[in-house]
Formats: sequence, C-alpha cells, structure tokens
Amino acid sequence: MIGAAAAADPLSPGYQLGRWLYLHPNARRLPGHIEQAARAAERHQLARRIHLSQARYELAQKIKALEEADGLARAERRAIERRVADYIEQHIAPLAEGDRTLRELPEHLRACRTTGALGIRPDQSHLVAWDAKCGQAKLCPDEAREEAHRIQRAYIPELLRQVKEGRDTRIYYAVLTMPNVAPGKLHQAKRAMFRRFRALLRKRARGRRRFSEITGALVTQEDPMGADGAWNVHLNAVLVVEGWLDYRELREAWHWNVELKRVRAPTVEALARTLRELVKYPVRMVAEKSQAKAAEGSAAPPMLEWAPTKWLEWWYANKGFRRTRSYGCLYAIQQDEEGAGALEDVEWIGTVAYRAGGYHVTLGRPPLDLIPDHKSTTSGAPGGPREPTTDPPGPSRPAPPD
Ligand SMILES: [Zn+2]
Repeated sequence: MIGAAAAADPLSPGYQLGRWLYLHPNARRLPGHIEQAARAAERHQLARRIHLSQARYELAQKIKALEEADGLARAERRAIERRVADYIEQHIAPLAEGDRTLRELPEHLRACRTTGALGIRPDQSHLVAWDAKCGQAKLCPDEAREEAHRIQRAYIPELLRQVKEGRDTRIYYAVLTMPNVAPGKLHQAKRAMFRRFRALLRKRARGRRRFSEITGALVTQEDPMGADGAWNVHLNAVLVVEGWLDYRELREAWHWNVELKRVRAPTVEALARTLRELVKYPVRMVAEKSQAKAAEGSAAPPMLEWAPTKWLEWWYANKGFRRTRSYGCLYAIQQDEEGAGALEDVEWIGTVAYRAGGYHVTLGRPPLDLIPDHKSTTSGAPGGPREPTTDPPGPSRPAPPD
C-alpha cells in the first residue's frame, strides 16, 4: 500500500522503502532509517488522499499561506546547503574514496528538507514532518537553526531560574581565545582547549575552587579559518556567576585573551540574543561571499573557498566532537526536539516540496462542496454550493440548526 505512490525520485521515502524491501526480501523488521522512510511515505499518501472538511479547509488555507511565507527564507537556506553539497561533491569526495559517509554526504545534504508532510497539531499550530534531514549542524543552516532553537528552549528558563533564585546571580558572555592553530594541529587543539576550560573551572587555590563564583557554564567552540590560513579556535561561553567575578584573575588563569561582557538585564529577549551569539550559525562563514568579509575588514576565507586538504582536516577534527558543552548548574539540561512526541495527534493536511529553487505547498483535497462540479446540470456557478436536489440520497447531510 505504501509503495504505490513511490515516484522514481531516488530520494523519496517511498522509493527508499521499496528498494530496501526489494534488496531484503526475507527481512523480518525494518531498520530505523527505513522505518522512518516508511512512516514518511505513509504520511505522504495520507496527506494526498485526505478530504478536508469545510472547517479544516479554511484553516488549511491559512496554514498554507504561513508555510509559503516561511518557505521563502527556507529556500535561501536550501540554496546555501546545496552549494555546500556541490563543493563537497566536486572537491572533497574525489579525495575521500574510502570514506562512505563523506562520499554520500552531498546526497544527504541535497535530500535535506526537500519533501515533507504538512500537519496541524491539536493546538492548531502547524508543522512540517520532513522525509529526510541531514543532521549536519556544522554544514546545514536549518540544522544549525534547530540547534539554536533547542538551546534557547532548554537554557533560557534555567538561566532565568538561576537569576531569580540566586542571591546575586549574574550572567556573563565570554569569548576565550588562544593563539591561532597551525594547519595539521586542529584535532589536538580543539580537544586541548575544552580540557583547559574544564581545568580552569576546577582550578584550586588556598584550599577552595579558585573560581567558585562561576556556578555554571554553557560553552560552544568555533573554529573558523583565519586570514593567514591558520585555525582561529575559540570558545564562546555563557557564565552563571554568583557575586563578583575577578576579570583580571580569570584572564591570568586562562593565560590568553578573554573578553567578558555582562548581560545586565537578563530578560528572555536578552538571553535569546546572547544564546544566538553563542551558537551562531557556523555556515555563515561557510558560505558568505568574500565581499561581506572584506567589508568587515577580515580576509578570512569562507569554507567554500578552503583548499580541500584544509576542509578534510576540519571535517575529521570535528567528527564525533561535541562542540557545545555545559558545566555546573547548567550541566545535563534536557534539550528536546521541537514538537517531539505526539506525531500521532497531528492531522496531515498536505505536502511541502522544494522545486526549482522554491517551496511549494499542496493541500489535501478540499471538501466536496468546493470542488467544481462540471457534470452538474444546475445553473449555480462552478464551485458554488450545490443545490440540495443534486445531493446523493442518504443521511449525508446533517439537519440544519434551529
Ligand atoms: Zn540539511
């Protein structure tokens, strides 16, 4: 029942499912990613076949307009991701014959958020369940965005709670630097920098923790390429501080430069801004054209202009590396997926597809009343409400209200 609508598109979930079943005729259960494809294919079929009721159709039209507006910005992000895919395919994949993940990466980036089912949650908010997502937060603008949203949802309430419940709790934004790292040394340097940060928090002096006023930290590491081709590895950190923080002592203990800025009024908006700064989209520097950089006075090359050997060094240095870490009171805070869980309660109303540089929304079929009935012999305008006499016999039409 699922395979029927599978188009020849090799990226469509129906096709993936069909191919897998063909290659594994005796399998008794589906592996995770194929099961996901199966569910996505089912959603698609459902969304195509569905007849929307009158009330649903009006809501669906509104949601379609909202989704199409979102689609404009999303299409720009898709264009960036596809440029990344092209770069990897042309310059990197030929050097990485033995690395299957890397060879298949362009295909995954191109499949990312290409087709999906549009649905309404019980609270009438809408969502798109994408058939495929690349999961590459370091390359894909949408993944980076979702990561940033997850971090905001998880940490803003906790930071507000710390400020509210602490005696004199202050929030700082810090950038901790180190000298630029020579090519070939990125892998070690990235790990050494986090070790150094942890050691800083644990450092002891006179029988107590030297920076015991730092009660929690959320830290992200960035590793752009500097103008000289060396790696500019640094940490962006949000620090929760109880009382006064001795900046000079902190800088002395870190040994290299530390920029420190207090978030004076930690409102939801201010914290959101701070967290956006913390996990800003690394692909900006990936794809942004050089003019923008040149205007800023920096000649650092964007990722798509990196020499392939540099890109490979960066890729392997980041493989399996958690770039965002938390400590102290911010440790082990749960980050949940947006709208995770209750997909069963979602009513699927249509499909979304990326074609020819833009996103297109197709709604499920409108209620029968709105379908132009050309066979009708009545004189009403096409699409207008039909005369009761043309209704099929039967109990289909509820009695009019009093
Ligand atoms: Zn992606």
